Amino acid sequence: MNASPVHPFVVAVDGPAGSGKSSVSQAVARRLGFGFLDTGAAYRALAWHAAASGVETDDAASVISCLSSFAVRIGTDPAGYAVHVDDVDVTTAIRDPGISAVVSRVARVPEVRTHLIELFRGIMAAEQTPGIVVEGRDITTVVAPDAPVRILLTASEEVRIARRSAELVGDQALAAGEQLHRRDAADSKVVDFMTAAEGVITVDSTELDFDQTVDAVIGVIESARAAAVE
Ligand code: C5P
Repeated sequence: MNASPVHPFVVAVDGPAGSGKSSVSQAVARRLGFGFLDTGAAYRALAWHAAASGVETDDAASVISCLSSFAVRIGTDPAGYAVHVDDVDVTTAIRDPGISAVVSRVARVPEVRTHLIELFRGIMAAEQTPGIVVEGRDITTVVAPDAPVRILLTASEEVRIARRSAELVGDQALAAGEQLHRRDAADSKVVDFMTAAEGVITVDSTELDFDQTVDAVIGVIESARAAAVE
């Protein structure tokens, strides 16, 4: 007789651009031996696929038509994370500022969100490690509202822009800051990731360095796990 399926322990992490949620979630997953799912990478990969197919990202109908040929693979190994569209490794290409500039246009299309939410739930259910840290904008509220741990990772806009621009100088740093601000404004019209929904714990990293933020998130997870076995 088959054992009944054991679902992975889901840690849902939302937050604005530059909050560090991707690198923090990845580090948390590594420390706990969990998988890691960067949902923003799927939206970025779709924007890349649309651009590579010559599709105008401003046109919702064209973006929707792209979904049928969108074969994306997102790894969940936090140590060897990679994103593929068909057989093309787009892990680096999807971080291009040109993709960041248009990704909100594809993410605002409801059919795109429905399609990708299904994809994320499938990846979560198939996870083979004991848990998975899933990060994005609507994980705590839409993708996994029943997750045993739900965290909103925030930081002041000033600090987020400073972190994003840390390796850039002059006009490039200014442009990165402006883009972060514009992207958050566009994304906020689609989902609210600036305020914590009921039951979601806020971790504010404004005054924390990277390791302290990872520790703070692990602290929230450990408390929830302890409460779950009580
Ligand atoms: O997290 P990251 O900044 O890479 O996300 C890229 C974009 O994907 C966001 O600006 C947003 O438009 C979209 N996104 C989303 N919902 C998520 C994750 C990302 O709409 N859960």
